[in-house]
Amino acid sequence: MVDLAPQSGARPPGTGIDISGLTKVFGSRSKTVTALEDVTLKTSEGSFLALLGPSGCGKSTVLRVLAGLEAATSGTALMNGRSPKELQGDHGLGIAFQDSALLPWRSVEANIKLPLQVAGLPADDELIAELIDLVGLNGFEKAKPATLSGGMRQRVSIARALVVRPTALLLDEPFGALDDMTRQRLNIELLRIWTEKPATTLMVTHGIAEAVFLSDEVAVMSPRPGRIIEILPIDLPRPRVPEMMRTPEFHALHDHLSGLLFGRSQAPADLAHADGAG
Ligand code: ADP
Ligand code: MG
Repeated sequence: MVDLAPQSGARPPGTGIDISGLTKVFGSRSKTVTALEDVTLKTSEGSFLALLGPSGCGKSTVLRVLAGLEAATSGTALMNGRSPKELQGDHGLGIAFQDSALLPWRSVEANIKLPLQVAGLPADDELIAELIDLVGLNGFEKAKPATLSGGMRQRVSIARALVVRPTALLLDEPFGALDDMTRQRLNIELLRIWTEKPATTLMVTHGIAEAVFLSDEVAVMSPRPGRIIEILPIDLPRPRVPEMMRTPEFHALHDHLSGLLFGRSQAPADLAHADGAG
């Protein structure tokens, strides 16, 4: 397996995600919502961070501020030392959402190509072919999204996020709408892809098991207003393999996170199926 040391030789990793005192208030004259309050979060360059928290706690808002899709009310949000504007400027940012948001009239290949065209960059046919191979869609290059399964469409959106050769990757529940088996399989593929093309990554998820399995660190948020309540280092060795999900170390991390999210006394139903696949 490819190791995760910095790509360019001996240079030590710099700061990856660097969010400091981030507050986001939505609203009009009459009604305001404090979606985020004083969120601070730092990771190292090339690391994988999962963001967990109940619905509405502000996870997507964190991601949208990093992507430059929302402005911060106060505070700063950088990735690899770059502001959202700078990231957009050097096309080093890959984004994938829960809804694959493919253009229905474009083929798989043409959808993957889109970010390059939008950025005014030349289409790199070799890279596009490599990405199609990486996400396991050989033979579907000319297929239209409507003819693909949900899991296949999400793979296209992951390939599309990677086509700019991102140094920063933002994933908002990319497999959230899929069944558990498919989701588990795509998580394993995502891990393989990320290992081959490391990027500073923030992935929003509601799956505790997948957060632990994929990440270097897991940040847990609480709602109203959205705050980070804990950042848990995941010191499981890499490469990660699905068998690790049955180790005592994995279960201890999982239990700790479910305690934070649901309280120690509960055994939430969705934990069972978060673990059940594979
Ligand atoms: P999550 O992704 O964790 O489910 P979001 O970041 O989408 O949460 O939302 C956090 C809070 O901010 C919620 O209360 C949501 O209703 C509110 N919110 C998000 N976007 C907007 C918006 N554009 N206008 C007003 N409120 C918003
Ligand atoms: Mg969200």
